Amino acid sequence: MSDKNQNTEFHHALKVDKDLCTGCTHCMTVCPTRAIRVRGGVASIIANRCVDCGECYRACPVSAIGVEQNDLDIIFRYPVRVILIPAVLIGQFSHKIPVSRIYGALSDLGFTHVYQVENTVDMVLEAYTGFKELNEIRPLISSFCPAIVRLIQVRFPDLVDNIIKVNPPIDMSALYYLEKIKSTGIRQQDIGLFYATPCAAKIAAVKSPVGDTESVVTGVINMNFLYNKIQKSLQNSETSENMPVTDDLLNSRGVMWSLTRGESMHSEKRALAVDGIRNVTELLENLENDRLGYVDFLELRACDEGCAGGILMTGNRFLTVERLRKMAAQMSLRDNEEQKKIIDGFMNLKEHSFLGNIEPRNIEKLDEDTSVAMKKMERKRRLMCFLPGFDCAACGAPDCQTLAEDIVQGHSSISNCIFLQQQMINQNLLSSEKAYRITEQIWGKDRLEKNCNKIGAEDENS
Ligand code: SF4
Ligand code: SF4
Repeated sequence: MSDKNQNTEFHHALKVDKDLCTGCTHCMTVCPTRAIRVRGGVASIIANRCVDCGECYRACPVSAIGVEQNDLDIIFRYPVRVILIPAVLIGQFSHKIPVSRIYGALSDLGFTHVYQVENTVDMVLEAYTGFKELNEIRPLISSFCPAIVRLIQVRFPDLVDNIIKVNPPIDMSALYYLEKIKSTGIRQQDIGLFYATPCAAKIAAVKSPVGDTESVVTGVINMNFLYNKIQKSLQNSETSENMPVTDDLLNSRGVMWSLTRGESMHSEKRALAVDGIRNVTELLENLENDRLGYVDFLELRACDEGCAGGILMTGNRFLTVERLRKMAAQMSLRDNEEQKKIIDGFMNLKEHSFLGNIEPRNIEKLDEDTSVAMKKMERKRRLMCFLPGFDCAACGAPDCQTLAEDIVQGHSSISNCIFLQQQMINQNLLSSEKAYRITEQIWGKDRLEKNCNKIGAEDENS
């Protein structure tokens, strides 16, 4: 197995645009790791808590949360420009458009080679089998969805050993095609390997891989951006030529892999497939509390319908799934012997199948020093006796427990609670002016002024 060290920093691909954010708290209430607070009237993301699941992006009513984007021009720094596309990109287009035309549109954009990420799914499956044989721990949890791997690290640290330490198909395919192109005499520094991502979590995983030191992927292109470019190119029938499809290892297993049940369907023992970050969180709570019974394998995806529901997908996720199912049904499982020969030609790839250790990053731990952490926990519990337990979020934290935690960590104050403020004013422990200033600090100076631009508001003079 690999002895690779993990990256020490989390890269995050989601950013709040402070000029657009209205501090409405929609994002804060959906975040599964309580990573968002409102300060000065705008949301801010606490880096070590965020798992790049994209729930805040979906919830924001004013599109103030954006996903970082590489400029497409960076591909032209490389004479050989490879784009690795997940099957879900293809699944967004009508079945009447041949795959070779989509590849042609990508060639119009400047890519010299186009391959589907899921070409190497059988290598991943083989590595799963090897990992299962060597590890007794059950259930094993898929490492495919980086948002789930990070969720386990920060919220369920006792379960990190359950994660299958096998590289997902994107890393295996990047290595495979890099080796393949190099074997034609092209130097590595002349090859740019780009990945079309359906989500922010995959961007973060490429920029700061968990269980690995660095990725061989050169850059990431957001799929919604690419989808629009391809559509435009397809509409311009004069420029868009077909490009031969050279996916040498792709089969129906690969086409289905990123969708819900794409992995678990290959498990011979009891396996569960769960999608949606809330469902996954509930399941992991059950697993942590020993309420799941025997399960051999867990396929967990942050998005509904797996990657078809990624935040950077433009097409309807249910239609995408339907198209990919049809596509898979028309494909053979491909002759294993023929495929084995190709894979065996790249034997050194097998050494790269495995991830290094995945470290827990417990966000619930109040201090590294156990005795200090216990004291903080006692204080937090005492504070909870006074906080009202309404979870109203008016303090700028998602709920009373989080406010109590922020207070013991020195990031907030008990006077941020609007209910306790009233008591403190009554008992002459706080002036009304000071209470007003606290509210302004949380919600911004202009928040308490008349504003008829809100949904449902109307000026009496209009
Ligand atoms: S991406 Fe997910 S974890 Fe990060 S702040 Fe948004 S909702 Fe929270
Ligand atoms: S399910 Fe797929 S698209 Fe969604 S966060 Fe996970 S890897 Fe990304």
